[in-house]
Amino acid sequence: MADTGSPLIRVQGVNKTFLLGDEPVHAVNNIGLIVNRGDYLSVMGPSGSGKSTLLNMLGLLDVPDNGEYWLAGANTVPMDEEQRAVYRREQIGFVFQSYHLVPRLTAAENMELPLMLAGISPAERRRRLAPIIDRLGLGSRAGHLPNQLSGGQRQRVAIGRALIMKPNLLLADEPTGNLDTQSGAEVVQLLEELNRDGITLVVVTHDADLGARARRHIRMVDGLIVQDQMKTPAEILQSGDAQ
Ligand code: ADP
Ligand code: MG
Repeated sequence: MADTGSPLIRVQGVNKTFLLGDEPVHAVNNIGLIVNRGDYLSVMGPSGSGKSTLLNMLGLLDVPDNGEYWLAGANTVPMDEEQRAVYRREQIGFVFQSYHLVPRLTAAENMELPLMLAGISPAERRRRLAPIIDRLGLGSRAGHLPNQLSGGQRQRVAIGRALIMKPNLLLADEPTGNLDTQSGAEVVQLLEELNRDGITLVVVTHDADLGARARRHIRMVDGLIVQDQMKTPAEILQSGDAQ
């Protein structure tokens, strides 16, 4: 199904309006966006500017009122809820500020959850989970419940869950928002390693330093993209990720 020649994301004329009492709020206002495979984008802007609404639509957690959203060559807007859920599971990993882990499941079980939902056998689940637990450095914590883990460990579990289906696209909404500087830096480092391995990464953040690390910077105000800038070659050299 995947059309590997096309951009990973193609959004055209997308709107999302919420009603606040009787007042319409244009959370996302006629946005167009093309994102190439393997890119690394940050989305910044004031609170209420529509960043999460846009990310939720890119993550197929929410549907635009109108417009087109093509992901990996498939037109997602006409999909019904079931098709959208399946496609989301195949294509997208999502990381939230507040982790969204299931409190009664262990770290390992939380990471396995998408595989269970996809009907994958316990043996195959264990086979796929092992390298991810290793990579995230969660070996000794795999049997712990979320409330027995630090914020940084919880976010790494959430990243493990996001990765387990080998998605093309990794979306992160304020992934370091609840973390101390050190754990936040570790989470960012991990996300950037995954991007270097080929995953397309979109990070919404308030943190200017984090936002500046991305190769492409988008700024939203009042539901509009008001700035869309690529890092200059000099900036890429300076940040040490030129390859
Ligand atoms: P950001 O992530 O940039 O802070 P959001 O995308 O969360 O912004 O919100 C954009 C605007 O849409 C805000 O005015 C917000 O109040 C409104 N909004 C977002 N989600 C909803 C919702 N489910 N119902 C009503 N209004 C919403
Ligand atoms: Mg938000």
